[in-house]
Amino acid sequence: MSSQALRMSSLFLRTLREDPADADVDSAKLLVRAGYIRKTSPGIYVWLPLGLRVLAKVEAIIREEMSSIHAQEVHFPALLPKAPYEATHRWEEYGDNIFRLKDRHEADYLLAPTHEEMFTLLVKDMYSSYKDLPVNLYQIQTKYRDEFRPRAGLIRGREFIMKDGYSFTIDEDGLKTCYNDERNAYQRIFNRLGVKYVIVHAVSGPMGGSESEEFLAPLAIGEDTFAQAPSGKAWNVEALTTPAMQDVDFSATPSMKALKTPDSTTIDSLVSQANALHPREDGRAWTAADTLKNVIIVVKHAEDKDHDKPWRELVAIGVPGDRQVDMKRLEAQFAPSEIEEASPDDLRKHPELVKGYIGPKVLGPQAEHAGIDEPITYLLDHHVARGTAWVTGADHEGTHVFNAVYGRDFEANGSVEAVEVRHGDMSPDGSGPLSFERGVEIGQVFQLGLKYSKALDLKVLNENGKAVPVWMGCYGIGVSRVLACIAESHHDDKGLAWPVAVAPAQVHVLATGKDSKVFEAAEQLVDELEQRGIETLFDDRAKVSPGVKFKDSELLGVPIVAIAGRDTAANGTIEIRDRDGSHSQSVPVSQAAQTIADRVAELI
Ligand code: ATP
Ligand code: MG
Repeated sequence: MSSQALRMSSLFLRTLREDPADADVDSAKLLVRAGYIRKTSPGIYVWLPLGLRVLAKVEAIIREEMSSIHAQEVHFPALLPKAPYEATHRWEEYGDNIFRLKDRHEADYLLAPTHEEMFTLLVKDMYSSYKDLPVNLYQIQTKYRDEFRPRAGLIRGREFIMKDGYSFTIDEDGLKTCYNDERNAYQRIFNRLGVKYVIVHAVSGPMGGSESEEFLAPLAIGEDTFAQAPSGKAWNVEALTTPAMQDVDFSATPSMKALKTPDSTTIDSLVSQANALHPREDGRAWTAADTLKNVIIVVKHAEDKDHDKPWRELVAIGVPGDRQVDMKRLEAQFAPSEIEEASPDDLRKHPELVKGYIGPKVLGPQAEHAGIDEPITYLLDHHVARGTAWVTGADHEGTHVFNAVYGRDFEANGSVEAVEVRHGDMSPDGSGPLSFERGVEIGQVFQLGLKYSKALDLKVLNENGKAVPVWMGCYGIGVSRVLACIAESHHDDKGLAWPVAVAPAQVHVLATGKDSKVFEAAEQLVDELEQRGIETLFDDRAKVSPGVKFKDSELLGVPIVAIAGRDTAANGTIEIRDRDGSHSQSVPVSQAAQTIADRVAELI
């Protein structure tokens, strides 16, 4: 096996000494500065020769592990017709997040954000019997999402590379087997890529389906927050559930009464008015935790069988006053619909809502008694236990009700995970308090179930000759994103420091100075490395100072560096060291190739 060295005298590369002005995270700065990628517009990048080499290595590892679980590679177009995405409602559900376009005949197309529909239709097109199953297909392909806020370079792009895979099985057991195979393969892939990860329970989001887990790279720059329990289990906070609250005995709670609380439209002002005007009988002070805040949100639904266009639904959410509503967590439960705070316009249509004094009386189940024809749905956060007593709005300016007991004085239409989770909250498995970390989602595995096969009518004949829908799973890796996460966790203040498995080359040979003997020795070494099949980047540039070559080498981040310079001319030795400065040694030119080969073998 021989391998052609990359020569920097002709390599298409221009390194930069300064960080690009708009780069917000280290990987974005360094990948651009070191000439791996270049930005063309927000969230869209060109891959340069060195970047493509790293990408190819990441992809090769993914392909090897996919073939080890008998997944077969195909390749779909990115430009897709509207119809299949309409059948699954995702044409509308994706909202502004997809790129839509028209062809010359005015037919609608989209640039695919992910390919469930197309894989489902492909299998439907080609297969018809249980004997054809299971089948597991994947692709490594360019995806498009019109992200609200492209950021962090390759980490949240608008054009990016994804490995997306889909399994098709005759039953749920088959699906579970495929899911576990993929999950195991993902662990091997991320281990080989040298990227740390945590597997967290996830909500399934716009894809639908049931069981789902995410692979998060624990990085402070991440947009996801995950929670870990003492048991080692982890959850994306959006998927975190509050342990069920015990009902509280309210037999000794005095009856509810309305009391004057002037100028108390905020929780803080309410607490101080309550303490000043209506002190508790037990001597303890009122706190924000005694108050029930009713927040009005809007759920933005797509069109459905009862609505011929997208529509807005007002929903009231009751939460303890000492906790903030977490809109992301709350939204996850209305998926695929999105939510936002109600606007003054929305509120004007409901004169029963008195700003700052909204109470349960005019909401949900009891609103009818208050003479309201179309009551707003009322949902209570899981922290509001049945039987607990609250200070909450009386639906009159300057008035609150005290001792309003949930289950005695008011009811709700349901419960919801609405508030932020806090450090120290009990974990869903009851193993102890939660702790939190930030992460970047690098992969996700889903048990889709029958959602897509039902929507697109993918059926096969079972053993009894009956047509049954096919069970599906789907499995994604952010290929370009994971590359950026590797860079994010493998660098120092001087530049990148790639793990050998994905580095653009295994060794970087520098010929420094002007002495032709040094260049000849370096040429000889590169020649031997090529013979041995060691991937070599060769800085053979004439008229470039040693200082610049060292700086570039640190920036580029090839794991082993071999330097031919003054010592080579004087004593016939070459210095070999790791990019991180460790393992430095001087060896005679004749032994350099062997020493490098040994070090490569150790690093692999
Ligand atoms: P996120 O929550 O970060 O927006 P997602 O859950 O919407 O991601 P999936 O639909 O699960 O993404 O896509 C599969 C994988 O593709 C993700 O796990 C992630 O690694 C990657 N990915 C998603 N969006 C982007 C993006 N905008 N840029 C780069 N990679 C992305
Ligand atoms: Mg995801």
